Amino acid sequence: MKRPNPAKSLALILATLLTLASVVSARGQRSSRSDAADLILHNGVIWTVDSKNSTAQAVAIKGGTFAVVGSNRAALSLRGPRTEVIDLRGRFVVPGFNDNHVHFASAAQFLEFNIMAITSQPEFVARVKQVIARLPTGEWILGGFWGAYDQWAAGSAGSQGRQSFAPDMKLVEETTTDYPMFIRRFDDTQFAANRAALRAAGVDPENPRAVEVEFLKDSQGRYNGHMRGRGVIPLFRSIAPRSFSRERRIQQTKNALAEIRRFGVTNVSDMSDDTQLDIYRELHRKSELTVRVHFRPGLDRWKEMLDAHVKIGSGDEWIRLGALKGHIDGIMGTSSARFFQPYSNDPNNRGRWRPLMVNESGEFVEGKFLGYMLEADRAGLQLTVHAIGDEANSVLLNYLEELDRRNGRRDRRFRLVHAQVLAPQDFKRLGQLKIVAEVQPFHLSDDMRWMEERIGTERSRGAYAFKSIQASGAVLSFGTDWPGTSASEYPINPMLGLYAAVTRQTTRGQPEAGWFPSERISIEEAIRAYTYNTAYANFEETIKGSIEVGKLADLAVLSRNLLRVSPKGLLTTEVVYTIVNGKIVHGK
Ligand SMILES: [Zn+2]
Repeated sequence: MKRPNPAKSLALILATLLTLASVVSARGQRSSRSDAADLILHNGVIWTVDSKNSTAQAVAIKGGTFAVVGSNRAALSLRGPRTEVIDLRGRFVVPGFNDNHVHFASAAQFLEFNIMAITSQPEFVARVKQVIARLPTGEWILGGFWGAYDQWAAGSAGSQGRQSFAPDMKLVEETTTDYPMFIRRFDDTQFAANRAALRAAGVDPENPRAVEVEFLKDSQGRYNGHMRGRGVIPLFRSIAPRSFSRERRIQQTKNALAEIRRFGVTNVSDMSDDTQLDIYRELHRKSELTVRVHFRPGLDRWKEMLDAHVKIGSGDEWIRLGALKGHIDGIMGTSSARFFQPYSNDPNNRGRWRPLMVNESGEFVEGKFLGYMLEADRAGLQLTVHAIGDEANSVLLNYLEELDRRNGRRDRRFRLVHAQVLAPQDFKRLGQLKIVAEVQPFHLSDDMRWMEERIGTERSRGAYAFKSIQASGAVLSFGTDWPGTSASEYPINPMLGLYAAVTRQTTRGQPEAGWFPSERISIEEAIRAYTYNTAYANFEETIKGSIEVGKLADLAVLSRNLLRVSPKGLLTTEVVYTIVNGKIVHGK
């Protein structure tokens, strides 16, 4: 991530806080005009996710909040001459999905151009034409990530036996003369550039030469734009723009917002850069923001937040601040998550600590990370920390106990981000410390392919152990990690997460009994984890997360009843309407 200029970001955050007053007064004025509802949805099955999991027939919405949640009669009694009325014809309604973990800016860039799942040249050409149609002349086309799913053909329960694919740059040469294009294979073992990009890098496309770069040829012996070697990234680093123009970022943001609306998501917990925060504010001012955002800068920026008087609850119901995100260890995908014992398939590797845990030579420094936590906690900020391996999770729980001892016990809602593999003895501490487990259930459908090979069966019992986490008394919160890594796509679609949590299978239904099936949870629990519990994790459960009178009118109308549909049917359930702040932002 780009390190922003601190003076600028402070100003941004302060300005965000100031929007609160204007939003509140605008709402007050609107609601005093008449008693009639703005929008009524009736004849539905409304799964409210209130404390009793009650069902209602109808809702009436007024001034962006629920005025009635109950019978058709009660809701329709607020019908006025200008009320919009929708007959749901028995459709199922849930509170808007609240995603606990997205990388919005990366997702927005990924959506703009990627060929991760592409398997043929015509599809590739079509995708390039599509991105060019949206870009001003001269803009770079970056990203790509081809080949990511080829490997799935080998040994993956989720595979579709794909052919290996590499883009043929000749086919896009003519359409991209004004758009330098530099793209990569998902694992960075190969890259491809068009002529415009090569020329921009000072390389002659007919006779390419560069330090530590091997230029590849096609079957007729002509250079084909593909290249390999350590010199490739340095060659393009100085010219390919490292960050896009603000106009392009805004366009990317709008595309990504449309994607979010399509899937009934009304709130996301984001970890993008400060430019993204500023774009959210700009769109919000123009009433173009269609998702509410909980925004988390890095843990090392606690002092900046303190100086700007940002703490838990800062911001407003559209853009919420007050939490920080830190990392303690690596990830499973690269076998860098930190474990007590070595990886089963790599006896010399126990994973790695992240920079805030170590000194400059990479050695663990006792108390360094804890120091950041103590300071941020004293400043009134919420802590959210990435921990994947069992040792990482365990060490973090020790730090939390230390926080209680030194700063006093209080309602911290510490978010254990990913909580992926836990040692058996640590489950009970999750409940004792009242943590929020910020998990992304679709990771499980992807990772189960190789989890046991890397950490063995015994440790796998504590992996993505949602039932045990919940039984410990911790709060289970769901999200996606959208858009995923360069090797796996984690779409924003909540149905994938609900499916993974209730089946513990790949999307193709493997293994048949589910992976460690005793850790499956019910669909009711999964919906709660994706709505109310994430609102709780954001300290917003009094205004979001359930369909109750007085709360913000954010909901999704679905094509199927999630309580009745088969697990497979979850995967094809669609969002008929998405409503945010009482406004229909997706659907007719
Ligand atoms: Zn993430």
